[in-house]
Amino acid sequence: MKNIGIYIHIPFCVSKCAYCDFYSLPQERHGDEIREQYVSALIRQFEWAKKKYGELSVSSVFIGGGTPTTLKAEQLVRLITSLKNTFELTCDCEFTVEANPKTFDENKLRTLKLFGVNRLSIGIQSSNENELNLLGRIHSFDDAKKAFELTRKCGFDNVSVDVMYGVPSQTEQSFLSTLKAVTELSPEHISVYGLQLEEGTPLCKNRDKYVFPDENECVSMYSKGISLLSKAGYSRYEISNFAREGKKCRHNLGYWSAREYLGFGTGAYSYFNSQRFYCEENTESFLSAKDFDSLITVEETLSETDKEKEFVMLSLRLTDGFSVKELFERTRNAEFYLDRCKKYIESGFMEIRDGRVFFTEKGFDVSNTVLSEILF
Ligand code: SF4
Repeated sequence: MKNIGIYIHIPFCVSKCAYCDFYSLPQERHGDEIREQYVSALIRQFEWAKKKYGELSVSSVFIGGGTPTTLKAEQLVRLITSLKNTFELTCDCEFTVEANPKTFDENKLRTLKLFGVNRLSIGIQSSNENELNLLGRIHSFDDAKKAFELTRKCGFDNVSVDVMYGVPSQTEQSFLSTLKAVTELSPEHISVYGLQLEEGTPLCKNRDKYVFPDENECVSMYSKGISLLSKAGYSRYEISNFAREGKKCRHNLGYWSAREYLGFGTGAYSYFNSQRFYCEENTESFLSAKDFDSLITVEETLSETDKEKEFVMLSLRLTDGFSVKELFERTRNAEFYLDRCKKYIESGFMEIRDGRVFFTEKGFDVSNTVLSEILF
């Protein structure tokens, strides 16, 4: 039986953050009835996938969004129960739910825990109130702290926290204060993302009104952030991700090792049987769908060469890169790729150690340029 990861997209949020271009609907565009219908449509999509792809074993589930915790506890239970009845979740399945502060209470968390959710991912973003306001977040840092403490009270021992850099008005000092405040909460995992100014978002439209840290400042604050996190016991294992021992995110590791996954819900991407495909970003069509084939668009069918390049590219996002042995097993052109890496190993942008090839810290800063030279 094939082993895959599953992603489920819940496209509802309380309100739209100023920087967000994910497919999500603010509260005024979804009532309880729509959320109920959405869960029913997801359950029909699970059945459709089972008929189409057969029996599947699942070792990681990630319910993201949007804000999955805008669903009621009963709706989450209906969704999770149906997922488990449709697919075979491994007994050690990593099961993550994104849970934004101010959208959950003790009852919801205890229910999630009872039904097998064993990992939470909380978007905190900053400990600075002015930055949170500019980002349009619905919570203060104090709310985020209380939400985090509640996860512990409810027995979650694997919690990840998201933090942002490159935020308007942010300084190196305010970014490092955020990291310090977050490490004091002592989560198992921390993701640190650079703010992307996406066309059409309020933050992008009003960008002239704000002062953003420039590229050099961002590089410098990120580099200092890495040392702060390292001193606090978090190892960097991917460009933007840090974890305590044994707490790397299995679901995301799956993406970076080119493992197959199925995505459910509006806008969700899948990679399965060498094809990358996505479900239309249209909640109305999704709610009424019986046959989900009509909502699926195949973006690309990967050739053997595409798959090889993807393996090299994705695994080099990880701080321990790829093993030379696996490179020979998964590609027909291992010597070609190794030869291309040689120049960067000699110049200190990459390293080869214990049979693995990976970027050095200096290499990560220019990884996009190096990767395009290695792969094309
Ligand atoms: S909570 Fe997340 S998905 Fe929702 S609007 Fe904010 S950034 Fe977007």
